Amino acid sequence: MRALYPGSFDPLTNGHMDLIERASCLFGDLVVAVLDNPSKRPAFSVDERIRQIRSSTAHLHGVEVISFDGLTVNCAKDQSADLILRGLRAMSDFEYELQLAHTNRSLDDTLETVFMATSTQHSFLSSSVVKEVARFGGAIDHMVPKEVALDLNRLFNSAFLPH
Ligand code: ADP
Repeated sequence: MRALYPGSFDPLTNGHMDLIERASCLFGDLVVAVLDNPSKRPAFSVDERIRQIRSSTAHLHGVEVISFDGLTVNCAKDQSADLILRGLRAMSDFEYELQLAHTNRSLDDTLETVFMATSTQHSFLSSSVVKEVARFGGAIDHMVPKEVALDLNRLFNSAFLPH
């Protein structure tokens, strides 16, 4: 089976990593698809996010990293994916994710959405929380892969440097 794991990944967190590691054991191929949506004003460019994910998943077999824009169902078709993978952290994710899954199924009824529950220790993690902590100089090493922590520290340290 070939699964598509779409998201913003701005940036990749240990929660995403946990899902990628577990999913790569379940599905033969896993395509991590980084959404290129400049209107979201991301902290990291698509190329930076792809580099972060590639280096953090280099030890895993069958994981590819790509970028996409437009509809997830079209990306899934282009990638010959059998299913869309999404993560669920809490009930608060559920309503939106269910709406998204129904929408995608109404656009392509051959495509299933599969949800995986987050590991408990990562259920509080989100890219925006990580950015918020990093912005104010808090410790983020337990929240993101090493490479991402370096990039975040670089980003927010340089933001405070006088020009
Ligand atoms: P999006 O903007 O598409 O929600 P995200 O990068 O925030 O992009 O999330 C991509 C996917 O990863 C979503 O399915 C989300 O539920 C899941 N996810 C986000 N954070 C975690 C986490 N801490 N543990 C597991 N899954 C997560």
